Amino acid sequence: MERVKCLIIGAGPAGYTAAIYAARAGLKPVMYTGMEPGGQLMITTDVENYPGFPEGIQGPEMMEKFKEQAARFDTDIRYETITKVDFSGEIKKVWSETGHEIHADTVIIATGASAKWLGLESEQRLMNQGVSACAVCDGFFFKGLEVAVVGGGDTAAEEALYLSKICPKVHMLVRRDQMRASKIMQERVKSTENIIIHWNTETEEVLGKDEVEGVRVVNNKTGEKTVLPVKAFFVAIGHKPNTEFLDGALETDSAGYIIVQPGTAKTSVEGVFAGGDVQDKVYRQAVTAAGTGCMAALEAERYLTEKGLA
Ligand code: NDP
Repeated sequence: MERVKCLIIGAGPAGYTAAIYAARAGLKPVMYTGMEPGGQLMITTDVENYPGFPEGIQGPEMMEKFKEQAARFDTDIRYETITKVDFSGEIKKVWSETGHEIHADTVIIATGASAKWLGLESEQRLMNQGVSACAVCDGFFFKGLEVAVVGGGDTAAEEALYLSKICPKVHMLVRRDQMRASKIMQERVKSTENIIIHWNTETEEVLGKDEVEGVRVVNNKTGEKTVLPVKAFFVAIGHKPNTEFLDGALETDSAGYIIVQPGTAKTSVEGVFAGGDVQDKVYRQAVTAAGTGCMAALEAERYLTEKGLA
């Protein structure tokens, strides 16, 4: 058994930022990275919207810099996964995959969310070559070109609207005869001239060898197949927050996102904080994740001071 003041679970922008702040505050944070250190940025190429990198930076390189900065202030980084937690007492108990037991005064959860994919071979093969799960991140690279967005939820609607401002034609592929998105978002999409909604439409294949050259879709009512000459294919069919290991220890919404008190990083359990995409289904940006990771560390520090544990 080991006792720590501040345990950070997850190693994306939120986790590393929390580590930098906690370490500089003298909390000697211990970080468990999980299976995918760096998180979703590890499957991203150019990041051009993170302030401070005027030339842009590759996602994995950015995460390496975050890690170096966290390590510079003596964050104890461990490449293991946390598999079990018990937050019922004042001391938070956490177990790693090897059975190591940690007792923490504060825990920061920054395990992120994973994008859902259609599961097509062509989608995986052309990932980052025109296939993306984030229009705000990658849409700019396809400025002036014809693109497609899959999905009928709020995310797909937002992505289609974002792309409609920089692309001449945006095809929205909706698998049913209605959208799941909120009424207002549906209205906005429908009234945008350069968004073409394809109802009852499923994707058969993303076309292209080294980059997206089109997408073959099928109407699931008529069986009619069409090739759309798009240069980018945005998948917006939802995300899955990485909260299974919590097994109900914290309050989450119906989709599994951790609920934090508005404007804070406080979860339903005192001393447990959350930052990044694991508690954010709206913004999902590296910079917002870093911001909420910072909030989580500052609140952990405040909590420890109030309890006389700092
Ligand atoms: P949702 O789960 O709400 O929507 C997913 C969409 O993708 C649905 O239209 C679904 O179709 C479709 N879909 C799922 N699987 C497939 C598939 N295999 N092939 C084709 N289509 C598929 O996810 P979102 O990410 O849109 O939203 C998640 C949550 O976040 C929602 O509660 C949303 O309201 C919220 N949100 C809020 C925003 C805001 O307030 N600004 C912005 C973005 C999200 P079907 O309906 O047929 O299942």
